Amino acid sequence: MYDTIVVGAGVAGCVLAGELARRGNKKVLVIEKRNHIAGNCYDEYDEYGIMVHVYGPHIFHTEYERVYEYLSQYTEWYEFGHEVHANVHGNIINVPFNLNTLHKVYDEEKAARLENKLVSSYGMDSRVPILTLKENEDPEVREVAEYVYENIFLRYTMKQWGKKPEEIDPNVTARVPVVISRDNRYFKDKYQGMPLQGYTAMFEKILDHDNIEVQTGTAAEELLTIKDDRIYYEGEVFDGPVIYTGLADELFGYEYGHLPYRSLKFKFEHYKKESFQGCSVVNYTVDEDYTRITEFKYLTGQVNTPETTIVKEYPEAYNGENTPYYSINNPDNDGVYAKYKAKADRIPNLYLLGRLAEYKYYNIDAIALRSLELADSLVRGSE
Ligand SMILES: Cc1cc2nc3c(=O)[nH]c(=O)nc-3n(C[C@H](O)[C@H](O)[C@H](O)COP(=O)(O)OP(=O)(O)OC[C@H]3O[C@@H](n4cnc5c(N)ncnc54)[C@H](O)[C@@H]3O)c2cc1C
Repeated sequence: MYDTIVVGAGVAGCVLAGELARRGNKKVLVIEKRNHIAGNCYDEYDEYGIMVHVYGPHIFHTEYERVYEYLSQYTEWYEFGHEVHANVHGNIINVPFNLNTLHKVYDEEKAARLENKLVSSYGMDSRVPILTLKENEDPEVREVAEYVYENIFLRYTMKQWGKKPEEIDPNVTARVPVVISRDNRYFKDKYQGMPLQGYTAMFEKILDHDNIEVQTGTAAEELLTIKDDRIYYEGEVFDGPVIYTGLADELFGYEYGHLPYRSLKFKFEHYKKESFQGCSVVNYTVDEDYTRITEFKYLTGQVNTPETTIVKEYPEAYNGENTPYYSINNPDNDGVYAKYKAKADRIPNLYLLGRLAEYKYYNIDAIALRSLELADSLVRGSE
């Protein structure tokens, strides 16, 4: 009945299903355990008519022409240069720390002096890791590094990952950049913005094909089983490609233990006023339990609404009940993952794809590219 089964209707699953159906002319079944498609990119209008991102703010940005052209077949774009601010004890500054930030942190005279020193030491448009700044012989330049470490990096990272200062990898700390530029954009990618009608609408179009059947509200375990390195669909051996984008440990019954993740709690708030913070994202890098506040209207361009909705993000441990968001990659956890991967590799028609199945962080564009490339090889293989 089906040539291919795709588990999960996130970015990875949708792109793959769409390509196999169109280019490969394959009959594809997509199984999704949530009651909606689009995975963590899922967006919807809330009860006040504001478009919100249910699993946290997602800004599309890419340098990959192929991904931009591919997605542009299914959406137009609201293009904008995403900026991020940080609230440091009530002072709103730009992040990453750049020349504009200098002028918000120090008085005019000191900021101008520091600007000259940074530009003459490192050159305009460079990104200088704070470790490099810390090695500068000028104490004022070293002071900038200290400010960034204390007020932008340290407490934010402790909240995000639930770590004590001594548990934070010094290699990560060393790489935190100061940007010698006046460009406030957070990403430098050529394309950045938001699907004009939202992500869900874009993925609906990708899945809208006669060769694709989507079953939401259905967990893979209800239809698929694995026994003796073979995959069974409703009790019958299934030899076509199975692309699995769910948790690798869950697929194999947690045989080698649970893979640790960081989770997030999202608290949505609605305000009967035009604006809450006047911009899309403010990181709380020193105070508060939440890491950031996103005001959706500035992300999606829906700015003409008289009211506004925001979301606060509270990092927390993953406990098996909440959503696994960020894999916690270290040699121990990666070693456990490698065992699951080796087990999957013994099943010739099983492909692990995506942020959960591959136990790694992917941006939208990176996983879209990887899915397009896997589709290339599957279509080629069946020609
Ligand atoms: C808070 C946050 C913010 C982010 N912001 C950005 C951003 O601004 N820009 C950007 O480029 N990237 C961002 N990302 C990354 C982005 O979310 C991922 O690139 C993307 O979600 C990966 O797609 P995926 O298909 O691999 O996984 P997912 O989107 O998680 O999709 C996997 C799907 O599989 C389903 N599934 C799992 N197990 C089963 C099962 N057993 N049976 C059936 N279905 C199953 C899940 O329900 C889910 O729908 C962000 C990530 C997080 C956590």
